[in-house]
Amino acid sequence: MRKIEVFDTTLRDGEQSAGVNLHIHEKLEIAHQLARYGVDVIEAGFPASSRGDFESVQLIARQVRTCSIAGLARSTERDIDAVRDALREAASPRIHVFIATSPIHMKHKLNLTPDQTLETAVAAVKYAKRFCADVEWSAEDATRSDWDFLVRIITRVIDAGATVVNLPDTVGYTTPEEYGNLFRYIRERVPNIDRVKLSAHCHDDLGMAVINTLSAIQAGVSQVEVTVNGIGERAGNTSLEEVAVALAIRKDYFQAETGLNLEQTIRTSRLVSKLTGMVVPPNKAVVGANAFAHESGIHQDGVLKNPLTYEIIRPEMIGLTSNVMAIGKHSGRHALREKCKELGLQLEEQEFNRLFRAFKELTGKKKEVTDDDILALALESTNEAMASRYELEFLNVFYGQDSISTTTLGIRRPDGTVVREAATGNGSVEAIYNTIERILGEPVQLIDYRIQSTTGGQDALAEVYVKVQYHGVTSSGRGIDNDVLSASAKAFLDAINRAALKDRVEDKVAASAAPTV
Ligand SMILES: [Zn+2]
Repeated sequence: MRKIEVFDTTLRDGEQSAGVNLHIHEKLEIAHQLARYGVDVIEAGFPASSRGDFESVQLIARQVRTCSIAGLARSTERDIDAVRDALREAASPRIHVFIATSPIHMKHKLNLTPDQTLETAVAAVKYAKRFCADVEWSAEDATRSDWDFLVRIITRVIDAGATVVNLPDTVGYTTPEEYGNLFRYIRERVPNIDRVKLSAHCHDDLGMAVINTLSAIQAGVSQVEVTVNGIGERAGNTSLEEVAVALAIRKDYFQAETGLNLEQTIRTSRLVSKLTGMVVPPNKAVVGANAFAHESGIHQDGVLKNPLTYEIIRPEMIGLTSNVMAIGKHSGRHALREKCKELGLQLEEQEFNRLFRAFKELTGKKKEVTDDDILALALESTNEAMASRYELEFLNVFYGQDSISTTTLGIRRPDGTVVREAATGNGSVEAIYNTIERILGEPVQLIDYRIQSTTGGQDALAEVYVKVQYHGVTSSGRGIDNDVLSASAKAFLDAINRAALKDRVEDKVAASAAPTV
């Protein structure tokens, strides 16, 4: 059975999704979960793009020791230096350098001739190789590049020391057969190709990212670049879980396997969805809420007699266990600590104390506390621990069908002072947001508002996601509470807090100046 390595780029390409802005601790939490899931490489960020990205790559390299950590660099010494410095303490570092190879990118973006591009690529790989044994090279927009030019440049970068060669479908343009043939062409014509691993990286603009990646596997690539839930710029990247489960279920056909612990699939998907605020569509393959729901009577009857009649994926295989009661009213600190361990949550003492208080409060209001509830509360308490924030101090809403909604609320500012204000609105949520805007003294444009519950039942926790435009930055935030209005207020403040993080502003500037693979 061929081994396929999983290169996860949720924290780099996935984080480039519009409106996603993860805090450094959230990135670390995702990285820990990816390591638990068993990915081979985590692309932790693009260190030259901002101070925030540099610091999160550095933190992940320090703390996540069981897989390779990669950082992305353009083909410049400055970018490569930033990756080298960020990965200095990594157990197994990888420098990932890229340059565009398509005529349109070379001419209009790089302003280089093909020969100049080739020399720049070789110089960058040689330079990276001085600091790191493991150097991945990517031909940005490979699928719109001249195949014979790719043969030339790949031969040279392998001679320069590249250990992995990645041919990204940067713009989501290719088709399964064409992409497979590209890899076959390269394997036949590049004389030193046996010295490197070949890698596939796809985007979903035409809805073909997963099938293109699978086709590349059939054509001999041994690394796939993917993101959790397929998040990423525009239509997103290849979805990690779809490729992993397809390989596992159709082992007979693909004759290839990953080293993933598939029972971590659902947890990984939910964590990323919660932290990024990017909701998984219910009909999404493998991890969608309806992926295992059988509505038709004939199907239900069959599944009850033998699940395999209509279910090709066993729910346990991907970690979809029934949401049993985790712990209850009488559980103490010890039981909660054990539960956190079981869920793989790594909380600092202060965060654990916040979680315990929130847990006790919840058991007073909710009969059954589930794993999902604990997870939601834990994420909320790490969220609250983020520095320099506006916090909700109190909230009163007056609502009547025939009257104007009125809100009074108090916000604790980063300096500790509490500001109180009141305002009205057409509905309760609008009244809350108008009040917050009044306190800030600045306009906040609400772009998106979504609400869902953590689990079923009347007493489920409410989770609200919002996207706002504030200080010229698009930012998303989430809030969790028993009450939908409190959750709405918290989500709005969270988005504002995230927009206000200065490094995020730098990020956006750097990101717009630096297109990537
Ligand atoms: Zn990409």
